[in-house]
Amino acid sequence: MIGNIKILVHQGKQYIPDPTTASVPGIFRGIPEITPVKADEKVLTELCPTGAILPQPLRIDLGRCLFCGECARTFPDKIRFSKDYKMATNSRGRLIISEGELKHITLDPDLVRKEIRRLFNGSLKLRQVSAGGDNSNELELNACGNVNFDMGRYGIEFVASPRHADGIVITGPITQNMAQSLQICYDAIPEPKMIILAGTDAISGGLFEGSPAVDRSFLDRNPVDLYVPGNPVHPLTFINGILALMRGGRVSKKG
Ligand code: SF4
Repeated sequence: MIGNIKILVHQGKQYIPDPTTASVPGIFRGIPEITPVKADEKVLTELCPTGAILPQPLRIDLGRCLFCGECARTFPDKIRFSKDYKMATNSRGRLIISEGELKHITLDPDLVRKEIRRLFNGSLKLRQVSAGGDNSNELELNACGNVNFDMGRYGIEFVASPRHADGIVITGPITQNMAQSLQICYDAIPEPKMIILAGTDAISGGLFEGSPAVDRSFLDRNPVDLYVPGNPVHPLTFINGILALMRGGRVSKKG
């Protein structure tokens, strides 16, 4: 009994009372800031493994960033990562951070389809498809439903069958082997339905961008409703992004 109490005291409070205002530990990398401090742009752009650092003017594309931190380690005065985990948006362009910009990433309300807010504000069932994923994003998405993050409190749940889903969450760069299966799964979801890309690999292909083993033509044929950056995605990034989408792109009062 005393042993159990000691464990409970040691573990502290696990449950997150409000995922829209929760803070994350020090090692987390969220939205970066590019300061106006001078730095060798050529070295900076070349060190990035996915070409996420764009030159003239200097920018970071969070849809390609692996959040490895190499740029911030090499040029600590030039690039700093904040702990701001609210990075999801429905506009691909909003994932690009420019030099000197202290950016808060939000959704564009004009891009949110009316039926999403009308039908899914309060209940959203999602089917997850790992299209060549490495299990890191999949693990974090799984964590969204655990007792800590508990996204079920908002009516958001993963379901086993696409027939029961309102949308699809794609992880991984979409390999050739998964391209057809992904389309079949998407076709099985009743209208209206949404597409959510979770993680750098899904948004841009990540390290696998341009690989002949990848087939991303699904994204040319079907519109994306939400981009959730991260490598892997943090549960708080995912939950806050989905909540913003369900609410029509408006920032929550607490967010
Ligand atoms: S943190 Fe992102 S931008 Fe910086 S080097 Fe890594 S992948 Fe590139």
